[in-house]
Amino acid sequence: MEKLIITVAPTGSLPKKKDTPHVPVTVEEIVACALRCEDAGASIVHIHIRDEDENPSDDPRIFNEIVEQVRERSNLIIQVSTGGRAGTDLESRILRLQMRPEMASLTTGSVNFPHSAYVNPPDLVDALAGEMRRLEIKPEMEIFDLSMVNNAVALADRDLAVGPLHFNFVMGLRGAMPAKIEHLVHLSTGLPAESTWTVSGIGAAQLKMNLHAVLMGGHVRVGLEDNIYYKKGKLATNEMLVERIVRLSKELGREVATPDEARKILHLGTS
Ligand code: MG
Repeated sequence: MEKLIITVAPTGSLPKKKDTPHVPVTVEEIVACALRCEDAGASIVHIHIRDEDENPSDDPRIFNEIVEQVRERSNLIIQVSTGGRAGTDLESRILRLQMRPEMASLTTGSVNFPHSAYVNPPDLVDALAGEMRRLEIKPEMEIFDLSMVNNAVALADRDLAVGPLHFNFVMGLRGAMPAKIEHLVHLSTGLPAESTWTVSGIGAAQLKMNLHAVLMGGHVRVGLEDNIYYKKGKLATNEMLVERIVRLSKELGREVATPDEARKILHLGTS
């Protein structure tokens, strides 16, 4: 089986220091955490940033500084979030692409989060996809619902994305898809040939969905963005979560990809 690509999502938009002291929120903390996770076996880092009050930020200077430092000090694949919690308008979300990270997330539809609506209208999705295509940034299609798979495929049909496509199934978020293996089978077997996919389980579903993906030939995302616990009642660090999935994957007979191996699997730099 293909080697396992581990993405770490260390920060996200939600957890704050009062929830877990382990969440990295400053430039220094996020960069240092990314480097530790690379040592532990991650090959992609999914970047969100915060302001000085730990709230989600869309300040391009902070994004740029993190991208620059991680690029200089590691071989990690940098994946910038274009998610809307930090700023919903197109301009804010497109600005995060100016450093030309190798990858960026792209949510291809709208969904209800537990306490808000996450709205991504068709023209915004098209514009983000078009800009990624222009800058040769590979989108990770963030899939909160089956309809979003079809929307992603339609982007490729209209030349706004280049195949093979890469998908991330976000499962276990209240308001979106349940974290169940039968849904993962349905999602992953319905993709265009040559597609790659990873899975993000929310909360306690992270480990379970990761293990399904390891066995099914998919890839995994771990990290405090999706889950702050190592197990019930015990807080995790990002590197603990990376180390655990490395250990379990190897035990199950699946080796872990280096960043350069991940680049090949994801066809980065070939579009
Ligand atoms: Mg994110």
